[in-house]
Amino acid sequence: MPRPILATIHPAALQHNLMRARRAAPDAKAWAVVKANAYGHGIERAYEGLRSADGFALLDLDEAQRVRSLGWRGPILLLEGVFEARDLELCSRLDLWHAVHCDEQIDMLAAHKTNVPHRVFLKMNSGMNRLGFTPERFRSAWSRLNALPQVDEISFMTHFSDADGQRGIQHQIKVFNQFTRDLPGERSVSNSAATLRHTRPDDDAAQGNDEALASDWIRPGIVLYGSSPDFPEHNITDWDLLPTMTLSSKLIATQSIDTGASIGYGSKFVAEHPTVVGVVACGYADGYPRICPTGTPVLVAGVRTRTLGRVSMDMLAVDLTPLVAAGQAVGFGTEVTLWGRASNGVVLSIDEVAQHAGTLGYELMCALAPRVPVQVQ
Ligand code: PLP
Repeated sequence: MPRPILATIHPAALQHNLMRARRAAPDAKAWAVVKANAYGHGIERAYEGLRSADGFALLDLDEAQRVRSLGWRGPILLLEGVFEARDLELCSRLDLWHAVHCDEQIDMLAAHKTNVPHRVFLKMNSGMNRLGFTPERFRSAWSRLNALPQVDEISFMTHFSDADGQRGIQHQIKVFNQFTRDLPGERSVSNSAATLRHTRPDDDAAQGNDEALASDWIRPGIVLYGSSPDFPEHNITDWDLLPTMTLSSKLIATQSIDTGASIGYGSKFVAEHPTVVGVVACGYADGYPRICPTGTPVLVAGVRTRTLGRVSMDMLAVDLTPLVAAGQAVGFGTEVTLWGRASNGVVLSIDEVAQHAGTLGYELMCALAPRVPVQVQ
């Protein structure tokens, strides 16, 4: 008997979420961002739900190769470009578009002997201060690239630091527009938060954005995977998103403890009244955050309850008291949903669990442990 823990990937939900992103930017093409192994979902599994995208944006040649071997003939973009000169050869062979964010990448292109012209996205650092040419250096980078016979098509991109937050994107989009306005080529600027919150002109007006958001290509990532880009301001229901990953397990024991008794390592939970405890076959070695405190939401038989005490390597404890009081039959083998959709259709969003861990849905889905079996459904 395998240990009763399972991650389920839902291709229909991925497809729904991609459509949702497209609805926010109906005139734009969509790069489906599938870096980090499709945010922990597995590129091959996510592909099933995302193949109606216009292109796939990812991080390295291994991921690109995997998408090509699934039969994808359309555009693939390396979001950080190449890391060393010999990558350019494989870029040509796999027919990849690649970001160019620094002088060293232009040097590599200039030295590259090829008959196959490259398509690049020149990246501006408009305020994130990670990758890209500063606005002041942008035009000279473009002129250098434009003069290279190795380069055939130049598009433009930037990345927002605060599309989900208070500062918004106004200052960055203004700079990007100002320094790319008269350059020929397509533009790609919007991640998930910018796509949902800022892309439509009427939304921009509502946000007080007077600067138009150029969007030939949107670049949604997290929104595809059923996590709200601006939780807790909006949850997935507000954005009409569906969970794409369910982490489920079962009860493997129950305990009835008296007032004053504690549960698990460090006795972090002490019962204030007689408590029925369920022990779940899921721990931090499965990717469930150890830091989640007592009170983190969880679904038992599709009914919302809470975790109790410290998360162990292979187990965690949940409060069955309210379920038992309501006459619900729970015991060995009862379904537990750590995040995602329970069999009865009730949803616990990964964002809620992440919030209790002091992090984001991004980190939880990427941290799903290799020992967890995965099915597609
Ligand atoms: N574009 C770039 C350059 C990124 O690095 C990322 C992810 O970090 C995305 C798009 C997608 O962002 P999100 O997952 O917030 O939609």
